[in-house]
Amino acid sequence: MQPRDLSTHVAYEAGRGIEEVARELGREPDEFVKLASNENPHGPSPAATVAVREAASSVSSYPKAAHADLTDALAEKWDVDGEQVWLGNGGDGAIDYLHRATLEPGDSVLVPSPGFAYYGMSSRFHHGEVREYDLSRAEEFEQTAETVLEGYDGDRLVWITSPHNPSGSTMALEEIQRVAEGTDERTLVVVDEAYGEFTDRESALALTEGRAGFSARDDVAVLRTFSKAYGLAGIRLGYAVVPGEWGGAYTRVNTPFAASELACRAGLAAVGDDEHVSRTVETARDAREYMRETVDAHVWESEANFVLVDVGNASVVAEGMQERGVIVRDCTSFGLPGCIRITCGTEAETERAVETLNELLAEGADETDAAEVTER
Ligand SMILES: *Cc1c(COP(=O)(O)O)cnc(C)c1O
Repeated sequence: MQPRDLSTHVAYEAGRGIEEVARELGREPDEFVKLASNENPHGPSPAATVAVREAASSVSSYPKAAHADLTDALAEKWDVDGEQVWLGNGGDGAIDYLHRATLEPGDSVLVPSPGFAYYGMSSRFHHGEVREYDLSRAEEFEQTAETVLEGYDGDRLVWITSPHNPSGSTMALEEIQRVAEGTDERTLVVVDEAYGEFTDRESALALTEGRAGFSARDDVAVLRTFSKAYGLAGIRLGYAVVPGEWGGAYTRVNTPFAASELACRAGLAAVGDDEHVSRTVETARDAREYMRETVDAHVWESEANFVLVDVGNASVVAEGMQERGVIVRDCTSFGLPGCIRITCGTEAETERAVETLNELLAEGADETDAAEVTER
């Protein structure tokens, strides 16, 4: 017996963890800071930590009430019906549900390149094909309706990431509206707002719901997660908000109790903890400005909790930083071999990252194997 043909499927490459790196290098974990996975440097919302402790003794029951309570709280936050809120095991779980609800075998999804790998992975599990539109490095990864529509060919779903991972660029709501207008009636445009809290831009839910001067549409959905601004990456909680017309499809595609009791209780507490989110967002804004001002290499403007840096030779620089205790993301797997992505840390962590990076750049680490880089 063998699994189905998975030869075109690729494994997700997560940012490396401190334990893993420390063990490999034979060093102590506390010598390292991890700025590789866009996690929250302030940890989880303290209210969520309390909620998880309190919920621990009730995990013998299925999370029916907790699921409903969180759905209600999110519906209230966004002023939508509960049916429109599709909870998932992480934002990634919600990506799966959107694909399950829309893809017939052979349908395609259109995804940004460079971009978040899981859109394509999930589409493939659901028997969908993957097509790409290019965000141009030379044009600062600018996101306009044209960039997306140039790549469009009747795809069932179009993924837009705003703020975009790994560049930090965003797309104006008017442009997203033009994408929705320029695609077929059967095409769903999903705006992944995993980093939505970190930008001043309004949520694309304005298009779904017909707010802020837009008329309501049944072909725009939004994705959100608790992993980034809320600091709950380890609990795995995210959701999609979909148009009211077909919100009811969730009950036919979701894994029963899509989010756990602990996740729901943590999420519920975190949604009520505005202070933690504000503090997190403020730290990220300061850090990304600081990195733009002080890194001795090109840093793209970012509206997220990370920056993309053009270092010339990403694998050498990322490895060099890691040896000096700062774990960052080599963006080769995103299709950007010259770049690293640095998550906004606490003030001290961010300063350490910049100092370490600038030392390496001054030592010429970016030029090592320059010839090899040019070839790629
Ligand atoms: C982090 C992230 C997500 C969701 O991650 P989860 O941890 O599964 O919630 C979705 N999209 C992008 C672009 C991300 O960076």
